[in-house]
Amino acid sequence: MNTHSLHDLTFDQMKALLVSEGLRPLHAKTLWNALQYHSLTDPLSCIELAPPLRRWLEGSVKSGMWKLDVLPVSSDVRSNDGLTQKSLLKLADNQEIETVIMGYNNRHTACISTQAGCAMGCVFCATGQMGFSRHLRPGEIVAQVHHAKRVLAEQQKRLRNLVFMGMGEPLHNYDAVMTALDIITHTSGINIGPSKVSISTVGVVPGILRLAKEKRPYNLAVSLHATTDEERSAIVPANQRWPLSDLLAACRHYNAQTGRRIFFAWTMIHGVNDTPDHAKRVAELLRGLDAHLNLIPLNRTTGYEGIESAEEAANEFHQLIQDAGYPCTIRQRRGIDVAAGCGQLRAEKKSRRQAP
Ligand code: SAH
Ligand code: SF4
Repeated sequence: MNTHSLHDLTFDQMKALLVSEGLRPLHAKTLWNALQYHSLTDPLSCIELAPPLRRWLEGSVKSGMWKLDVLPVSSDVRSNDGLTQKSLLKLADNQEIETVIMGYNNRHTACISTQAGCAMGCVFCATGQMGFSRHLRPGEIVAQVHHAKRVLAEQQKRLRNLVFMGMGEPLHNYDAVMTALDIITHTSGINIGPSKVSISTVGVVPGILRLAKEKRPYNLAVSLHATTDEERSAIVPANQRWPLSDLLAACRHYNAQTGRRIFFAWTMIHGVNDTPDHAKRVAELLRGLDAHLNLIPLNRTTGYEGIESAEEAANEFHQLIQDAGYPCTIRQRRGIDVAAGCGQLRAEKKSRRQAP
């Protein structure tokens, strides 16, 4: 029998399910409240469950018809400054994914994974170096948000922002990510504001066009990293499938259709993409776009020999982009001591395991 997860369901789907099982629509509200608002790991512990709903839930979980996505923590690390916490969460098939909780200026953000591994193979990325295992279901994405919410609640803190910048390529798992976001932003559930959600893509052009067409109310980040197809394909193999001209055309279309700014990410790699010449070319490439550039110093990974840009190079790059009229920020190297880069905790754990 195929077991389905109650965490995969949107509110409307949950209501339709319970009604089809002979329960009342009101029961859907109670169950949704227990699972999605209170983040209960065992909804049967909820005293508000009416007897018919309790009986149905007990029966369907016991029979294996329905299950919950509660992901046990297989390891947890905190940065020395205590502001970043990274958890490795275990999926039912023993795959492990990372969820990171960051808290700066009292604004708490969770960094969510969308796939176990990633098929895109960016050479500098620890997740890309692992290869692709599988897509996550909506419930496995939602469960990471519940994890972050529970961890923060223990510290009397509230989760406000979500970034889809963990393991995997969100637009390669488009449907599951959008269903998860319908669940996560539901106002009587987790209730994260859509404007507090950012989706980062390596540049999956059909996904960007779909976001524009569907006018999804989330922020979009595009990982650019280079200004020519030759340079970009060398570090981002997905560029061979969706070259820069197609990517930038899709970004222009997205700007025009949605009226939303795009946040371009630029991972700064010493000698590879951090010269003043590169900065000038980025400014030319982005001409006419409503764009913000986010500079991210490379986190070193075992599978890539590149190192991060020197501080002076990063500052000069930053200045040149600003002088060209684009908003630009350098992301602080925060939480670096917890292997901050995406996929790095799982990669580190694996290499420790493999060590003689
Ligand atoms: N797949 C999506 C989202 C996950 S990666 C994407 O690529 O956009 C999130 C961001 O981390 C991307 O901008 C990616 O280029 C960057 N990144 C990956 N590995 C990194 C590393 N070792 N150092 C710095 N940034 C890295
Ligand atoms: Fe995948 Fe993003 Fe890593 Fe590239 S940077 S391999 S797209 S997770």
